[in-house]
Amino acid sequence: MSRFWSNIVSELTPYVPGEQPKLPGLIKLNTNENPYGPSPQVLAAINAHAGDELRLYPDPSGSALKQTLADYHSLTPAQVFVGNGSDEVLALAFMALLKHEAPLLFPDISYSFYPVYCKLYGIDYRTVPLDDAMQIRAADYAGPCGAIIFPNPNAPTGIGLPLDGVEAMLRAHPDAVVVVDEAYVDFGADSAASLVDRYPNLLVVQTLSKSRSLAGLRVGFALGHPDLIEALERVKNSFNSYPLDRLALVGAAAAFDDEAYFQQTRQAVIASREQLTEELVSLGFAVLPSQANFIFARHLQHDAAQLAAGLRARSIIVRHFTAARINQYLRISIGTPAECAALVQALRALLQ
Ligand code: PMP
Repeated sequence: MSRFWSNIVSELTPYVPGEQPKLPGLIKLNTNENPYGPSPQVLAAINAHAGDELRLYPDPSGSALKQTLADYHSLTPAQVFVGNGSDEVLALAFMALLKHEAPLLFPDISYSFYPVYCKLYGIDYRTVPLDDAMQIRAADYAGPCGAIIFPNPNAPTGIGLPLDGVEAMLRAHPDAVVVVDEAYVDFGADSAASLVDRYPNLLVVQTLSKSRSLAGLRVGFALGHPDLIEALERVKNSFNSYPLDRLALVGAAAAFDDEAYFQQTRQAVIASREQLTEELVSLGFAVLPSQANFIFARHLQHDAAQLAAGLRARSIIVRHFTAARINQYLRISIGTPAECAALVQALRALLQ
């Protein structure tokens, strides 16, 4: 607290991202990064542009990347917005589209950045409990609201909502924006991108941080009706003309040109997830059915905080949340087969 702060600063509760320790030999399964590197084509594109041209500003509207994303999703560039990671896209969406008289709705167990944005922008919100199976139930969002946001698949549960549930929300609230945060969608859930042409109240947000192995490049995007995209552009252009640098713009576009690499790495993560789930079940864990690149699991006898501490002592970090409903769960990002095997071995030793 300082006398130089504006009033809002002292009242903020900033989001705390998963830690990024730099310890040799650490097995890092705490921030849902992809265990495989980016496509070689991405690295080649970045290298080809890491030169003299960096003295020039990047394209402020990211037109070439928008065209690539529009082609990939069979949309037009006017239906695409690009930003510095999906966190930035979400932040702009909260300000541009989610602040209304009636409260914003999101699940009680969900991405913990949402209430942080609400506080920053003074957005009234109400959380909607997941059902007993930790699933989002579309019918629970039928009441009056100013807007809705939820991750699909949800985080940190990993459970996806089928598209008919998404459509039920869109139809129940034709005058409210529904934001579907699809950070993890490529690992097995159904994307609402195919619904964008039919629902002017739908905004789909995706990232290159997970399924494209580019968390370090900071690129996210939104797909929606041109009116929604224009709202995002207006806020963006009142804040930062150049959120995406030249290397990010070319690297991101190259990621969508290498479909084979995308399919191969995504399938490898899915296969490891299914195997790790089986192994954890055999160790006495209850594992929620995940469609993401992480699993959410609780041991039926052992305390989650103690297990997380025991893993850390063995140089493996996973994420443990302290919120009441989920404090007996561990969120474990899917690593390489060798990392998953090391995790299972460490857990076996800890559980003895
Ligand atoms: N949405 C969800 C549900 C997430 O878990 C994350 C990752 N923390 C993000 C959005 C943001 O990812 P990024 O800013 O790297 O695109």
